[in-house]
Amino acid sequence: MTELDEVIMAVEEIEAIRLRDLLAMEHEECAEKMSVSRPTFHRILATARQKIAFALINGSALRIAGGNFHLAQHKLECRRCGFRWEGTVCCRRTVCPACFENDWVRI
Ligand SMILES: [Zn+2]
Repeated sequence: MTELDEVIMAVEEIEAIRLRDLLAMEHEECAEKMSVSRPTFHRILATARQKIAFALINGSALRIAGGNFHLAQHKLECRRCGFRWEGTVCCRRTVCPACFENDWVRI
């Protein structure tokens, strides 16, 4: 993969593909979920599909990076110390603010 040319996909482009093409949600619902207007959603989706088509046809790798988005806040609880907080969940890099362990669950 490291020797392939890359096509950079923004996070919101992947989200548009996930909602519309994977979950088969209606455009209206997708736009609402992403907090954008319908024309904006349509534009993001069109760009995303074009990038994926380009990568397929040209044998390029897709890299997901950047974009204009914010992560949803979740209620979390540390399984080590029981501390509860509200925060974003990004992979498993999120750590408990009290004991700095990354052994937590969404509540
Ligand atoms: Zn903790």
